[in-house]
Amino acid sequence: MIIVRIEELSWPEFDRIKDKVVAVILPVGSVEAHGRHLPLGTDVFAPLKIAELVEQKVRERGKEVLVMPPIWYGHSFALNAYPGTINVRPESLRMYVGDVLAELAAEGFKKIVLLNGHGGNVYPLTEAAEDVAELYPDVEVYLINWWLDFREDILSVCSGQGHAGEDETSVMLAIRPELVNMREARGRRVKRKIRVIKKDIGKEVFPDGLNDDPSSATAEKGERILQIVSESIARIILGEEG
Ligand SMILES: [Zn+2]
Repeated sequence: MIIVRIEELSWPEFDRIKDKVVAVILPVGSVEAHGRHLPLGTDVFAPLKIAELVEQKVRERGKEVLVMPPIWYGHSFALNAYPGTINVRPESLRMYVGDVLAELAAEGFKKIVLLNGHGGNVYPLTEAAEDVAELYPDVEVYLINWWLDFREDILSVCSGQGHAGEDETSVMLAIRPELVNMREARGRRVKRKIRVIKKDIGKEVFPDGLNDDPSSATAEKGERILQIVSESIARIILGEEG
């Protein structure tokens, strides 16, 4: 099976295929601390893999989607307390993603899936999608925050959910096990009634850069989550549900 990657195409090749796709998927994530056991790129690895599975499932039904190169940097205030977190301001992310969405709309794509892997991106991405919706009334942006939108399904597989927790760790064990250090996979859930915003709050809310107990994560759980989430998104794109 040949997977089309637009960054590998020439413009005439791109021009030939773009009318055939039913949707484009733009994965967005962050470069951010994820406990001591997960790589900084976790929030991109996960949605990119989900996007690739969606592409495969849509193709099996005789249709095409195009997976765009991901946007790696996101908004991450709290986790910026840890080395390796590259935080961009929400307005920068809104403008940047908004520009990319507008370009995709100008290319003629009518259904754009923003596949988000990171909590701090939710508001800027919502605003970016609204900006494009105002400019292009015939374009639909599907903003999917996979760990939130499919929370019920995920909790039927995992006992808990949280930053660098059982669900994310399981998904990473399924995608890139060599990047996961399960000997360091321990943590706890820190609950706060209200949100306090101050410099380095992440040290309190995300001790060691996580906020859950990832110790019972397995690759098998991760594979089930990836399959459930990607199948649901494939159906949504093809109008089979939701
Ligand atoms: Zn994450």
